[in-house]
Amino acid sequence: LHRLRALGLAARVLDVASDVGGAWYWNRYPGARCDVESVQYSFSFSKELQQTWSWSERFAGQPEILAYANHVADRFDLRRDIQLETRVTAAHFDEQTRRWTISTDRGEQFSAQFCVMATGCLSTAKLPEITGRDSYQGATYHTGYWPHEGVDFTGLKVAVIGTGSSAIQAIPVIAEQAAHLTVFQRTPNYSIPSRNGPMTPDYEGPWKSDYERRRAKARTMRTGILYGVEDETWGLNNVSAMDVSPDERQRIYEERWTVGGTAFMAAFNDLITNEASNDTAAEFVRSKIRETVKDPETAEALCPHDYPIGTKRICIDTDYFETYNRPNVKLVDLRKTPIEAITPKGVRTTAGEQAFDAIVYATGFDAMTGTLMSIDIRGCDGVELREKWAAGPQTYLGLMCAGLPNLFMITGPGSPSVLSNMIVSIEQHVDWLVGALAHMRANGIETIEPRADAEVSWGQHVNEAGHRTLYVKAASWYMGANVPGKPRMFMPYIGGVGVYRQECDDVAAKGYEGFVLTRRDERAVAAE
Ligand code: NAP
Repeated sequence: LHRLRALGLAARVLDVASDVGGAWYWNRYPGARCDVESVQYSFSFSKELQQTWSWSERFAGQPEILAYANHVADRFDLRRDIQLETRVTAAHFDEQTRRWTISTDRGEQFSAQFCVMATGCLSTAKLPEITGRDSYQGATYHTGYWPHEGVDFTGLKVAVIGTGSSAIQAIPVIAEQAAHLTVFQRTPNYSIPSRNGPMTPDYEGPWKSDYERRRAKARTMRTGILYGVEDETWGLNNVSAMDVSPDERQRIYEERWTVGGTAFMAAFNDLITNEASNDTAAEFVRSKIRETVKDPETAEALCPHDYPIGTKRICIDTDYFETYNRPNVKLVDLRKTPIEAITPKGVRTTAGEQAFDAIVYATGFDAMTGTLMSIDIRGCDGVELREKWAAGPQTYLGLMCAGLPNLFMITGPGSPSVLSNMIVSIEQHVDWLVGALAHMRANGIETIEPRADAEVSWGQHVNEAGHRTLYVKAASWYMGANVPGKPRMFMPYIGGVGVYRQECDDVAAKGYEGFVLTRRDERAVAAE
């Protein structure tokens, strides 16, 4: 909105929430916290904002990130063009007027030349398909739709279903409050300690005085994140795990475990491409789980074995594995005793029924495509997004789709998005989009749309890049595997944030290669 206004465009933002904040508005579960360091998970577009805002912790919690989102909305006077509590139900392109008609659940219709879907990758929460789910008579919560007034679990018997990033953050906090907590785990996850702590002047100062250089470097990294600033490696160890001795490997893993956070996966340069290297990192984390969790059977159940580390989103925790040493916490291994049903009183597995006062579903999202597919989007020549993506998302650069002129996606499937620092990727998409719109206005161009063949080639490239890694070996939400019936394909682009930015910039520099640009007088000026 800020950048569109600067271009001189009139813009309106529609959001179903009652306030700004997106993911950080909805995900208010206990322990919710970003696992990218806040000095990096923050906007870079305003130097003043960057210098004046101070984070209180290394990894800010949800309330602080939400306060930041509100601060940004106020600071840049954004609210007067944001319409809240409005769900977009449809977006139809009119081939005569060459404009989008956007319909909402309030019965309104908006007409716009451009439509930007900034709908997020993890915004459609998913409840599990378990028999009897609606028969349960206690309180139920989904981590992605947490009540704003909070939940007091004091004295209650609580069940958590799921052990992904959200659960791994929520479990230690709920365990401190509840009388008893039972965790129902289908697939164990690899998790690295965050080593979160208060922000100190010694840490914040060098970031603020060197922000421009560090941000510029981060934009060239694979994940858009700097893992270290001590030297010019920026925390990326550019050797294979196979090229060092076992002792040296162990030393490096220990060092990263002690520092904490996602830097663990940058310990060697081939952890996501070489199974033998990956195995060494996976075994290191399993050894830490066995060291931490006192009951050997629980420890073993918590050890992931059947997918490479990092190929389901790596989790970052505070005292997750330690929590299983508490007397009021029990793990149920659903691989041994699967859930048969949710009953009016609780959960029934093949081992019997257990009653609970509350069930927390930490069961994730219909990721990357769910929200876009929930909107009735129709473009030219009868193109409907739901039909077009029935066998999996197809995009050009994760930015646009053939047949949907002037409809942009921010961090769409086919872009690095969820494999990166989302703020870095959001800013890159906004920069690219604003550049495209400025180019169009300067040249009297009315519509921009990818060529069908450019979209096909990009899809092949995204797919090939995914298959060069170990990511495709896991039944993850990256692959659409968590939603029954969803096509299995690796949806984000693994080429890396730096490489991808260069590809997008090159496309623009070549006159928007792969796109058809149409002037007002209908003359195609498509790049060759
Ligand atoms: P998730 O990673 O998809 O985890 C969902 C969990 O629910 C999995 O353990 C899954 O088991 C389980 N589950 C689903 N259906 C089930 C069923 N029918 N029965 C039993 N278990 C079931 O979802 P999430 O934890 O909400 O995280 C989603 C993503 O959001 C993360 O990967 C991350 O990208 C982002 N996130 C980030 C942060 C952060 O920055 N700190 C925090 C939270 C979330 P299976 O694995 O067997 O399917």
